[in-house]
Amino acid sequence: MEEKHKLLKKITDEMNGASALLAGMAASESDDMWSLATMTGILADYWQKIYDAYQNEQPVAFTNFGIPTELFYAMDIMPIVVDVLAANAAQYGLAHTYNDIASEKVPEYLCSNNTILLGALLAGDVALPDIMVHPANPCDSNMGTYPVFSEYFKYPYFMIDMPYTTTEKSIPYVVNEFKRLIVLLEEKTGRKLDYDRLREAMAYSNIVHDNVLKLGKLREAVPSPYSSMEVMAEIGIVMCTSGTKGAADYFQKRHDIIKENVENKKGHLASDEEKLRVVWIYGAPTFDMGIYEWSEKEHGALLVSQMNNNYVMKPVKDISDIDHILAGLAEKLTLMPMTRECGGPWENYLDNSIDLLRRYKADVGIFGGNVGCKSNWAIAKLVKDKIQEELGIPILNVELDLFDDRIASSDTIKGQLGDFFSMVKNNKGV
Ligand code: SF4
Repeated sequence: MEEKHKLLKKITDEMNGASALLAGMAASESDDMWSLATMTGILADYWQKIYDAYQNEQPVAFTNFGIPTELFYAMDIMPIVVDVLAANAAQYGLAHTYNDIASEKVPEYLCSNNTILLGALLAGDVALPDIMVHPANPCDSNMGTYPVFSEYFKYPYFMIDMPYTTTEKSIPYVVNEFKRLIVLLEEKTGRKLDYDRLREAMAYSNIVHDNVLKLGKLREAVPSPYSSMEVMAEIGIVMCTSGTKGAADYFQKRHDIIKENVENKKGHLASDEEKLRVVWIYGAPTFDMGIYEWSEKEHGALLVSQMNNNYVMKPVKDISDIDHILAGLAEKLTLMPMTRECGGPWENYLDNSIDLLRRYKADVGIFGGNVGCKSNWAIAKLVKDKIQEELGIPILNVELDLFDDRIASSDTIKGQLGDFFSMVKNNKGV
């Protein structure tokens, strides 16, 4: 049984080790250290619970970045967000291995997000889930691979269908999809949806989303109160643990700290050190988080926002009954970062990118063009030109793979970023 969990064991051990190390440092150091230590602790706990669920034969679901996790926590089904699984595999140096294994079965031009999962499954390093659930938006790569994986490995699968465009009819349609999902989850896992547990999970996620919205507003401040690492790391907490007490407590405390810092004009970098405010308007590499710290240290180029942490969903006001909760979850599903921007017509991506750059007072934007994302590469130049025209903000298009450094290594990416940052700083005279 153990060998089926090789990847989970690796992630759990690494996370627990990092959590213990950071917890010791956080006791005597800054708020930044508290934040990183607490986030690492929450994620270590998340992976440990997944590992334990497999060991104890409790239900586990593969989900993805577009799926709200509250329903799963309410049903005691541990959600493995497969994109976070791929990112962790990449961080621990396993992307090459799994992508190579996958390439024996599927074309190499598919998104690594999908192929890392396939490689890990083929290697037998991740045990099969009780079900996989993902939404129809935003990409063909998920739609083209996840149903095939489920058929090949023979585990249940459910795609939450959603309209291409969002209209007043979308929410009732997606609510109906959630109702069908609940029936299937109950059938496949033997777990009955307990409405009190669902209300509890929604209450926790309301605290998360309320504070995430407020924090998003506070992060617009100059100088920015967040480090680049925090901008990146908080995405994982929202994606994997919304609906849990740990996430709710973290974001509540985090808001209090950041609010005070902004009121005192205390930035992560001092005002004169914050040379460039950077927004990654598409994906951002996950295999080396050091790229963001390097940008900060070498160029004063601070990551102030990124498409994947542009959470705009509001708390669900009425959680008194199942209909209102499902309507809230349906709305959340349509507003998930990347789903909102990259599903539907291209204006969804363009308008949200312009809004993001404008709100965060960006000096530059980076389009982290994942080679597997065909649709967004098709409009990358159009978007770059439109942004330049409307905001006068330069955009750098970088060809890379978000998870596998063989398309563009850390050094290659740093080289491109470094030239770009130097040129913009030179032009601005900073
Ligand atoms: S990175 Fe792009 S292609 Fe890959 S799963 Fe995300 S949206 Fe789809």
